[in-house]
Amino acid sequence: MTDFDYDLYVIGAGSGGVRASRMAASYGARVAVAEERYLGGTCVNVGCIPKKLFSYGAHYAEDFEDARSYGWKVTPDGFDWPTLVANKDKEIERLNGIYDRLLTNAGVEIHAARATIVGPHQVKVGDKEYSCKYILVATGSWPTVPDFAGKEHAITSNEAFYLDQLPKQAIVVGGGYIAVEFAGIFSGLGVETTLVYRGPLFMRGFDDDIRHHLVDELTKKGINLVFDATISEMAEAADGDSRYTVKLSNGDTMDADVALFATGRHPNSYELGLETAGVETDERGAIKVDDYFQTSQPSIYALGDVIDRMQLTPVALAEGMAVARTLFLNEPTSVDYSDIATAVFSHPNVATVGLTETEARERYAAIDVYKSAFRELKLTLTDRQERTFMKLIVDRETDRVIGIHMAGAHAGEIVQGLAIAIRAGATKADFDRTIGIHPTAAEEFVTMRTAEPAP
Ligand code: NDP
Repeated sequence: MTDFDYDLYVIGAGSGGVRASRMAASYGARVAVAEERYLGGTCVNVGCIPKKLFSYGAHYAEDFEDARSYGWKVTPDGFDWPTLVANKDKEIERLNGIYDRLLTNAGVEIHAARATIVGPHQVKVGDKEYSCKYILVATGSWPTVPDFAGKEHAITSNEAFYLDQLPKQAIVVGGGYIAVEFAGIFSGLGVETTLVYRGPLFMRGFDDDIRHHLVDELTKKGINLVFDATISEMAEAADGDSRYTVKLSNGDTMDADVALFATGRHPNSYELGLETAGVETDERGAIKVDDYFQTSQPSIYALGDVIDRMQLTPVALAEGMAVARTLFLNEPTSVDYSDIATAVFSHPNVATVGLTETEARERYAAIDVYKSAFRELKLTLTDRQERTFMKLIVDRETDRVIGIHMAGAHAGEIVQGLAIAIRAGATKADFDRTIGIHPTAAEEFVTMRTAEPAP
């Protein structure tokens, strides 16, 4: 492998790129990674991590309220947005440092610059050119904002993490992960929040019961849900003061301090030199790869959001490990995308693994559906009316549990464990003979005995 400057040149030090770099280096490869923005990529800097920190921050409003019902004399002294942002920034800086050390200690060279591909085995970084046996494109994705008059006033999740001031009124556009998560964050922090979604019911792709349940719960929390509408125009408000007047496609007009667009993310594949190197992309700009993440140019690989399979950090990590094994252990490794558990950190949280009821009815001759909705024990001393919802879907023929859905506190923590059971092929009988942990919400998953009547 000595004819090249590097065995592997990775473009992008996000979740997938870092994992592939470290693993490849640990298998003896000479690796460099180029990163033009921030170590750790979207997840660490403007995604999963700061989002979850903000979400924790937003939950305190209800925690203070609940605490009073438990006898605590708590009088919150107000909320200070700059403190939350500054503490979040400090933590992210610490994580950036950890990523730097992880790479350096693994023997990976870090080039803090933009790299472009200039040939099947060549990358250009600044005025230097390097030869490499393999190139791995792990450049992630970027928020997409649709065109409309006044688009320049819109913000995305990228900016939402660095707002100077907490808005008084916010509009969140979109009905997927980021929209419902930020609607929960803003609303929890006391912002008057409206979520605008273009279709009749948000969270497309999730189980319908969960989607309806979330409508009820977000509404109870005071979030104004506007469905079947988009923003058609946005302009500075007449009263100035950095506020905006927003026109909706349904004819309504509303004012807000920010309009956050969470309308999907597109693959970050532009101006990388892909065409020069003969790397094919699809109509969305996603790099086309085979089962082993090899592109149409055999020496070039790609993974993570830029291939647009599943825009999830743990998926990019699995893909990174697969690429490293394939290239440097001589063990062709692919990734199984079935039954990947996922959580939406809305308030309340949603988590899911396996099939929705609609998908299950399409794929299986007969299914049984078990549902449970209840107010958590913790809330019984309080006035809070939040309800937890759980659902199991079972293939009647094999008795295997093929779908698990939950909306409620700590849904992600609970469903992560259950995802192992699904992976292991657990049956409903296995769930039934598992003795619950009492009193927990999670025990409900092993005590549901009566299937819903067939529709
Ligand atoms: P999503 O794909 O989840 O949702 C995009 C939303 O925007 C959908 O409701 C979509 O509507 C709507 N939309 C798309 N285009 C338009 C348009 N032109 N006008 C109006 N609405 C539009 O994307 P996000 O941006 O929320 O997040 C990107 C990805 O990042 C997620 O898919 C997820 O994979 C990942 N992510 C994961 C998180 C987690 O694991 N907790 C958290 C945040 C992000 P429609 O449904 O009708 O197409």
